[in-house]
Amino acid sequence: MKYLLLAFCFISYAEAYTLNNNFGASFKDNKVKVYIDAGTVCPTNQITVNDLESMIQPAVDDFWNPIPTSALRLDAAGFSQHISNINQGRLCSPTDDECIDEAVTAGNSDPALGLIPSTTDIIIACNSNTLNFGGGNVLAVTIPNKFSGKKITGAVILINDSSNSFGSLSRADQIGVIAHEIGHAIGLGHSEDTAALMYYRTVNQRSHLGQDDVDGLSYLYPMHVDAFGLSDGLLGSCGTIDTNKNPPSNPPFLQMGITLGLFILLSELYRLFKRAKARSTT
Ligand SMILES: [Zn+2]
Repeated sequence: MKYLLLAFCFISYAEAYTLNNNFGASFKDNKVKVYIDAGTVCPTNQITVNDLESMIQPAVDDFWNPIPTSALRLDAAGFSQHISNINQGRLCSPTDDECIDEAVTAGNSDPALGLIPSTTDIIIACNSNTLNFGGGNVLAVTIPNKFSGKKITGAVILINDSSNSFGSLSRADQIGVIAHEIGHAIGLGHSEDTAALMYYRTVNQRSHLGQDDVDGLSYLYPMHVDAFGLSDGLLGSCGTIDTNKNPPSNPPFLQMGITLGLFILLSELYRLFKRAKARSTT
């Protein structure tokens, strides 16, 4: 049994999900709401706010919520209150001085206009400010997450409304793009595995997650381990991290080692138990 488990972990080792920040941040709570900004408009992409809202449920239920080894559950929560600068603002991380300077140069006389809106959970809006996207071909971005210590407290996803690239996709692909950006919002970076939703290029006809996405989310939001340490949540963390880009604070190898150790311990105990039983019957 332990050799089987070892083989499973080595198979998983071939993949390489990454994290969206240097310290492996995840949302503190395992229940996170996903909203559409109530006042957002997407005239270039010709999408109504109701169209956008209807994509959230499939983006969370067809991709991120069904993972049995992840404790995270995303809730399609409808509309949030409108944030005034979310449709046109150049939105910068509060610690990104370069971005704030650019926002000022671009015409925002008050640097606060360029700051990420104070949000909790995840908010999605259209935005027509090209400075947020670095090009018309970029379909959407998740601007840097807001943190409290090592936990994510909020994330904003912007759909690029400076061009109609997003609007020209099929509805299924639009949902795939939103699901990909939600992946960033909950803490995942890009994967080099072409089967992953978090693959960095296109999300053409993605209808489900790849194993790499499953491993990454299970690492960030592990299921609680039961008394025997045999939870699938622990096993699901065998994948590796691209340490060059995003060194994790808690290497999955540690969890892998603990799981193996527990299996070896249990199999030894079982062997001893069998031997004792054999003695008592002879
Ligand atoms: Zn991406």
